[in-house]
Amino acid sequence: MPIQLLPDEVASQIAAGEVVERPASVVKELVENALDAGASQISVRIEQAGRRLIEVADDGCGISPDQLGLAVMRHATSKLRKAEDLFHISTLGFRGEALASIGSVARLTLTSCTQDHTIGARLLVDGGRVEAVGETGAAVGTVVRVEDLFFNVPARLKFIKSDTTERQQIEALVTRYALAYPQTRFALDVDGRTVLRTSGNGNRREVLANLYQVEIARQMLAVSFEEPGLAIEGFISPVAVTRSNRREIIFFVNGRPVQDAALISALLNAYRTLLMVGRYPLAVLFVTLDPEEVDVNVHPAKAEVRFRSPDRVFSAVQRAVRRGLLAYSPVPGVQPAGWGGSARPTNETLPMRWNTPQTSSAGPLWPDGGTQPQAPELESASGAQPAAGATGPASAPLARLPLMRLIGQVGGTYLVAEGPDGLYLIDQHAAHERVLFERYVHQLGGPVPAQALLEPVVMQLPAYTAGLLEEQLPGLERLGFEVELFGPGAFRIRAIPAFLSGADPQAAVRVIVEDFEEDEAPLQAEREARLAARICKRVAVKGGQTLSLEEQRSLLQDLENCQSPRTCPHGRPTMIHLSVDLLERQFGRRGAR
Ligand code: ADP
Ligand code: MG
Repeated sequence: MPIQLLPDEVASQIAAGEVVERPASVVKELVENALDAGASQISVRIEQAGRRLIEVADDGCGISPDQLGLAVMRHATSKLRKAEDLFHISTLGFRGEALASIGSVARLTLTSCTQDHTIGARLLVDGGRVEAVGETGAAVGTVVRVEDLFFNVPARLKFIKSDTTERQQIEALVTRYALAYPQTRFALDVDGRTVLRTSGNGNRREVLANLYQVEIARQMLAVSFEEPGLAIEGFISPVAVTRSNRREIIFFVNGRPVQDAALISALLNAYRTLLMVGRYPLAVLFVTLDPEEVDVNVHPAKAEVRFRSPDRVFSAVQRAVRRGLLAYSPVPGVQPAGWGGSARPTNETLPMRWNTPQTSSAGPLWPDGGTQPQAPELESASGAQPAAGATGPASAPLARLPLMRLIGQVGGTYLVAEGPDGLYLIDQHAAHERVLFERYVHQLGGPVPAQALLEPVVMQLPAYTAGLLEEQLPGLERLGFEVELFGPGAFRIRAIPAFLSGADPQAAVRVIVEDFEEDEAPLQAEREARLAARICKRVAVKGGQTLSLEEQRSLLQDLENCQSPRTCPHGRPTMIHLSVDLLERQFGRRGAR
């Protein structure tokens, strides 16, 4: 084929592929335009997850009638004049591409009015062709309507995910912008229902409750950090609140959301040693620095940035997060007598560290300081590294436990038991998790027996997660739950699995949406097992909870009856074994002669 210049429409569609990937990308561009226009109020309306309609209305500066045609042309922008401007961009847009791109893959109506004009103007673009321009009455500001997205690019349509997923993306996106711009009033309407409304009073914590569940929003720790030319604000989760993935780690740089692996790893670094393997914090952090310090022109959708001094930024993030974590002092745990050093962190979420007893000269087993981070010499009783992910009874047939004699409970957290070969320290939470999990998995073959609650419990979820739960409702019955929709964002729990009787129904149901993976679509059985593991973790007895002798005894007995008693469903050890041999060596009874 001979070389030819592409017609403008085709070129626009190709460019649109980079900017307009899914309905949420349209929302992002339009919201950014509204923010750039200095809007104090932005309302977003979507129908059918944005496929049918996306409408963004703002009260910003507007576009004058003679400029409307330019606004929808490619490389037409009011935010940049010359190439150097690229290096001190203070607006969110600058590429002059969004409206043209959107107009080439949808039916776009742009209505706008400025303060200097008494009458507004309207322009229609249909799949890249400007169809009509005319005068119309309009308030000062701009309304952009995008209908039938991708109607002329059927190939794109195929890549759009389920309505729930797309809707969730849009809700998450608008919520994040609302948090980033607390001075702006945001409203989001989904199929005629208002799912988000912020006051614009500048209070970020108030907006936070829309992003997370109320209890989590309350627990989030504030971060506020400043050094010359650089500021970091936002919220991070305390170590007790974690997720199984990094999806809730959000960074904004100079007001734009960015995906940056290095920023995320700086944050994770600050949490290092504080979280269990495979667990991640929640965070939403706003980094502000001199525009000249960031190159925003590295990604068509502007989702990535480049820092002029990356190390400086990462180190600041680390320090800011560390400071935020330290400012919050954890509830002191119990100090078992004989552990010496009062500075030892005993928060149950801190991983336990053992100092390696020297093999040549018998070192102390219970170190005083206990600060050197060395590999544990005392293996978990499974004798193996904890495996990642849930281990069902079938996947790890570990030796069963010997019969043990209960000695008692230590620190309200560990059971102490004696077996044929020494002493066992059992983490009551992990052990209970294991016991519950095996019972659950055992029942999952058929429908899990449910037990009706005496009083049905009504639970309210933010719109963001309510959609997720709603979608899962049909499958919940198999898991032993009876949950029904009870108004917008509200659910009524009628029954929970019989074997969980007495557990907090809300906590158990909430787990179902908490760690939900967007693209989670493994085999149903595997998904159910994973969900079961999470539920068991949530409802199991906690560390620090005093158990009666009877309860201790039956927990120990139940654990003995487990198929894989030595790890919790998430692969962490349930117990530590101090063998007779080890004890004798530690006391110098062996080898000393
Ligand atoms: P960019 O934002 O990169 O400049 P866009 O295609 O998104 O490119 O928009 C083109 C131009 O249209 C903008 O530069 C701006 O002048 C104008 N415009 C777009 N949306 C709005 C809006 N909501 N209010 C005022 N002006 C707008
Ligand atoms: Mg723009």
